[in-house]
Amino acid sequence: MGPADGREVPRFAGPMTFARLPRADQVPRFDVAVLGVPFDSGTSYRPGARFGPAHVRQSSRLLRPYHPALQVSPFAAQQVVDAGDVTANPFDIAEAIGQIEQAASALLAGGGRIVAVGGDHTIALPMLRAAHKRFGPVALVHFDAHLDTWDTYFGAPYTHGTPFRRAAEEKLFLPRQSVHVGIRGPLYAPADLTGDADLGFSVLSCGDVAETGPVGTAAHIVELTAGAPLYVSVDIDVLDPAHAPATGTPEAGGLTSRELLTILRALSGQQLACADVVEVAPAYDHAEITGIAAAHIIYDLITLMAT
Ligand code: MN
Ligand code: MN
Repeated sequence: MGPADGREVPRFAGPMTFARLPRADQVPRFDVAVLGVPFDSGTSYRPGARFGPAHVRQSSRLLRPYHPALQVSPFAAQQVVDAGDVTANPFDIAEAIGQIEQAASALLAGGGRIVAVGGDHTIALPMLRAAHKRFGPVALVHFDAHLDTWDTYFGAPYTHGTPFRRAAEEKLFLPRQSVHVGIRGPLYAPADLTGDADLGFSVLSCGDVAETGPVGTAAHIVELTAGAPLYVSVDIDVLDPAHAPATGTPEAGGLTSRELLTILRALSGQQLACADVVEVAPAYDHAEITGIAAAHIIYDLITLMAT
């Protein structure tokens, strides 16, 4: 069962699901589930990513079913569904993390894969726990302006700035085969970078992407992650605020949406196990700029799962 046909039902009408896809309960089985995770209690600056899933779904209405660059019809090559939203406790981060892990694990147990839509970056930790249970250690390809490997924030260990330190402690990803892409902006201290390197991550900064180009950047990623199942985590703030203004901690000098989509497309043929797209905070959006960028990134991630 595919999405509503935009030649029969106008794209501004019809189901409220991602890309107007069927809901998970409308089909007997699925290959890929888009899972909303409306949780933003881990944010450190602008709140509001709890409204991300609904905004991204609205912005995804204009997607069409054929991907010409990769020559794939992602919704025909595999059964893709919208699995709705996780109920995550907004007043108890630990409980919310447990709820997200449980919901993701239940979906993965059916044999499908997940593209999660945040929510703040805290949600990557329970997603990685669920992915690890199903796929074993993954190569983490993390697109973000920020490292997100700080230890604690105001004494709190579970925040949107700390998920990948916790994930490293829990050995959820392959340290020598994991990479941050798009890093930029001011840090607290040089130790932020050395502490991150101690966890085993490589860094391809925004400057590196500018120098190497998106195709060269993807070639680095493919070489580094060789053969491992990938977990791709996209913090929308990896894009320049011109391309994604609606996010919690914007930083100048980011990637264009074209650069990010070019990198993703060049990962075609790699084994993409799971993915997330996080930190869309719609109250700061204008004309759905950020929502549309996120919807297209998710569309490309779903397409990669079909290649
Ligand atoms: Mn970020
Ligand atoms: Mn982040």
